[in-house]
Amino acid sequence: LFSKILAAYDGSKAANKALDKAVELMKMTPGATLEVVHAFDFPRFYIAEGFAPVPAKVNQDFYELAEKTVEEVKSRLEADGVAAKVEMVQGAPAESILDYADKHGNDVIIIGSRGLGGIREFVLGSVSHNVVQHARIPVLVVK
Ligand code: ATP
Ligand code: MG
Ligand code: MG
Repeated sequence: LFSKILAAYDGSKAANKALDKAVELMKMTPGATLEVVHAFDFPRFYIAEGFAPVPAKVNQDFYELAEKTVEEVKSRLEADGVAAKVEMVQGAPAESILDYADKHGNDVIIIGSRGLGGIREFVLGSVSHNVVQHARIPVLVVK
């Protein structure tokens, strides 16, 4: 089955459900490992002239929010007695998740259908859409 599982995590309800499934899948397979990745990107504000400079404080707030997300998921896994590696990577989420899977040789990506943002009229968020579209390994999308 799958032995090097990657879960994509943004702190959302769907991402937490995806993580639960990832843990289940890991426990089903002797020797399987679980990695959890949270992609963090600096914000960019587009104005008529191009990209506006972002105040340092805003960048810092984004970074701290990402760290908090990582710490939260780490403590949740620890409390559940789940051995997993949690990593924060910098970059656009879908690209970062796919790069991570390529580099680490994961054999499945588990991802929520929706995340924190987004428009309800679409079934998939842009991150899950792009990951499904471009992944070269199986992707499990959890609703
Ligand atoms: P959109 O971001 O397009 O406005 P959305 O937030 O509702 O829509 P997505 O961002 O595609 O939906 O989220 C779907 C899933 O992708 C999440 O449940 C999570 O598993 C994963 N994901 C989203 N953002 C990140 C991120 N920054 N790092 C890691 N995984 C992420
Ligand atoms: Mg999103
Ligand atoms: Mg988004």
